Amino acid sequence: LKKNQVIEMEHVKYYQCTLCNKVYDKKRYIFTCPSCGEHGILDVIYDYASLRHILTESYFRANLDFSIWRYLPILSVLDRHTDETLRVGWTPLYDSKHLREQIHLRHLYIKDEGLNPTGSLKDRASVIAVLKALEARKHIVSCSSTGNAASSLAGNAAKMGLKSVIFVPKRAPIGKLTQLQVYGSTLITVDGDYKDAFSLSKKAISHFGWYNRNAAINPHLVEGKKTVAFEIAEQLHFRVPDWVVVSVGDGCTIAGVYKGFYDFHQIGLIHKIPKLLGVQAEGCSPFVDAVDEERLIRESAENTIADSIAVGIPRNPIKALRAVSESLGAWVKVSDQAIMDAMFLMGKAEGIFAEPAASASLAGVIEAKRQGIIKEKDSVVVISTGNGLKDVKNATDHGEKPVLMKPDLSELIEYMNAKEKSEENYG
Ligand SMILES: *Cc1c(COP(=O)(O)O)cnc(C)c1O
Ligand SMILES: [Zn+2]
Repeated sequence: LKKNQVIEMEHVKYYQCTLCNKVYDKKRYIFTCPSCGEHGILDVIYDYASLRHILTESYFRANLDFSIWRYLPILSVLDRHTDETLRVGWTPLYDSKHLREQIHLRHLYIKDEGLNPTGSLKDRASVIAVLKALEARKHIVSCSSTGNAASSLAGNAAKMGLKSVIFVPKRAPIGKLTQLQVYGSTLITVDGDYKDAFSLSKKAISHFGWYNRNAAINPHLVEGKKTVAFEIAEQLHFRVPDWVVVSVGDGCTIAGVYKGFYDFHQIGLIHKIPKLLGVQAEGCSPFVDAVDEERLIRESAENTIADSIAVGIPRNPIKALRAVSESLGAWVKVSDQAIMDAMFLMGKAEGIFAEPAASASLAGVIEAKRQGIIKEKDSVVVISTGNGLKDVKNATDHGEKPVLMKPDLSELIEYMNAKEKSEENYG
């Protein structure tokens, strides 16, 4: 295909409002439904009938682009500058043999999203955001974030020669803030929590006319996130698992995972949509509590070490609730202690260092198994959404302290003998 030929986004049919179902022309530059306002989040709907003939198993087998762009025909970006972005996606899906035995599951896989260029699944959305910003001829991109959306936007913007203005709550972990400094963002630390950072960014974005990467209201970002589901399907040779497990803050990630499986199911590449397990932290569980108590979502405290899912007012409630209910999935919440235990379990058993919010997914599997929601025979994919090096403080505080000794072999021998003995005694 020739460059600049206008075949682009040809498979996008229209945008559809998730509230009122009204349909909008794909050429319109809108994020939310003009009749429903800011709660009318849009879905991107494709021409699945024509995609059935293009996106076949043999198409994927022959595709040597091991990045998010292997899915370009079913993304809502123009085919411009895709060869200039950071390399996002095609992260490994590990068959987690040791962990599977330890938590008594027959089939367990971990999708390590911490290996994306800025260290989290958010890169899948941010790389789309920077291309959409270029399409809209904007030179400054902006978002508010608990950390990963921000560091990811900043890195992806830098690669494309764009500037970024980032609003973060005061409690963002140092690793994520450092990324912003290194990627050259204008960094606004808001004296308040995530809600306050979000509200100031919203006003600023509309005042200055920057490109808005606040995930919930921008339908193209969920489109980016859905590629993680495409990869899981491909990596399992189109035999999808019984469960896919996702930690939930705003709800955009789980909505994206659902959309990916939905798209592949519509095209006929997979025969079912896996059940989605939404996992939240006990100290901030607005989704779980609303579902348990069969009521609307209420604002919650943001009281957990899992900063990436400490979202008191989720911005994408409709899509997230729909993802879990339509997939016939479930919701669970886990304590901070369970999250830290899961972090060390994943590290020791599989060599994957996940940040607290990412470790929450594994803690969620253990909790769901305890409750009988997940059965031993079920196949499970845990999405580890972010890299542990972003937040070493919590890990250091919970980890075994290193020993200090003189540079003396006999002291070391004594120590190793004692250690061996205590491990024999206590397993
Ligand atoms: C953002 C994020 C999540 C949750 O995604 P939401 O779209 O906010 O639900 C989970 N884990 C990590 C590491 C994240 O950065
Ligand atoms: Zn609407």
